[in-house]
Amino acid sequence: MNPKKEFKSALNVMDGIEQPGPVNADALRKLKAKRPQSLSTEEFVHGIRSGNRTVLSKAITMVESSLHSHQQKAQEIINACLPFSGKSIRIGITGVPGVGKSTFIEALGMFLTSQDHQIAVLAIDPSSTRSKGSILGDKTRMEELAVNPKAYIRPSPSAGSLGGVARKTRETIILCEAAGFDVILVETVGVGQSETTVRSMVDFFLLLMLAGAGDELQGIKRGIMEMADAIFINKADGDNVNKAKAARVEYKNALHLYPPAESGWNPVVDLCSARARMGIETVWTYIENYRETTKANGFFEFQRKEQFRQVLTETIDQAIKRDFYGRKDIAQSLAYYEKEVIAGNISPYTAAAALLEKNRM
Ligand code: GDP
Repeated sequence: MNPKKEFKSALNVMDGIEQPGPVNADALRKLKAKRPQSLSTEEFVHGIRSGNRTVLSKAITMVESSLHSHQQKAQEIINACLPFSGKSIRIGITGVPGVGKSTFIEALGMFLTSQDHQIAVLAIDPSSTRSKGSILGDKTRMEELAVNPKAYIRPSPSAGSLGGVARKTRETIILCEAAGFDVILVETVGVGQSETTVRSMVDFFLLLMLAGAGDELQGIKRGIMEMADAIFINKADGDNVNKAKAARVEYKNALHLYPPAESGWNPVVDLCSARARMGIETVWTYIENYRETTKANGFFEFQRKEQFRQVLTETIDQAIKRDFYGRKDIAQSLAYYEKEVIAGNISPYTAAAALLEKNRM
């Protein structure tokens, strides 16, 4: 067959115009230049200190990264930012899903920014399985605040252990403070352990409740109420006002049963409507009074130091555990001793002592 003849057929693919490569080299170069690790620690700190949101976000991404090199860089940045941190008021906000946390944070945030405060909103939600592990990633939440230049909203780090997420949030607080945010709001869903964790990283803890739902229904354990510096009954609007007032009396009575708080501050119970933006200023007045009272009596500083001490011991605990369980020989011996203990051949105490002795070797 004559090959030349074949070329004339319309069934053949004709030469097209030259195609560009699959990747735009110029865009790739720009993207690479933007990678967080390409900034030096000094550049990071300078960017954060000058309030550059992009740099702050990149630094937080490093904090959240599990890559060893990112972790090292993150620690350098945090250490350099530490002297510039600590000047904010850190507020924890909790309540069951649907109580109105995001509506409330939007209302409080808009009020505070109108008063020239710079606010950062962080979240702890280790249970979240939504994409990006974030309850705050949902675009419909805090629409107004999200575009407010004086506010910075950072979604919760992707799902992980509560300890891991807590550590990242603590470090993120330091970075946000160094960036000049003077009010840090840490939100958590009031359904489990995370309230205690948030309590251990904030100065003031606010519990949002609903009227007439009953403690059990709201999933709020009594211990959580005991941790609160303020309880606000949200949705105190429309037909709900009387029920909310009755709930206020009920919670006030319940709080009387607790021993006086170490802070010298008497927890308050009040009403608000996040939707109607009512009672929001009152919340802030309480928070300011709390700050004044606890700064005057020394509790504010005491609590922060205590929290640092707690982080120190927790970090050591975690590292020791990781080292212990990470050793191959220990893992093998552990498997052996587990069987022996279950079979009743050896007591768990003797087995533990033998394993700990092995760890010393
Ligand atoms: P979250 O799950 O705790 O963050 O709650 P949201 O802020 O998403 O609010 C849950 C629902 O309650 C939404 O439909 C809100 O519009 C509504 N809501 C929030 N605050 C109020 C309030 O003060 N009054 C009334 N009536 N509804 C509210």
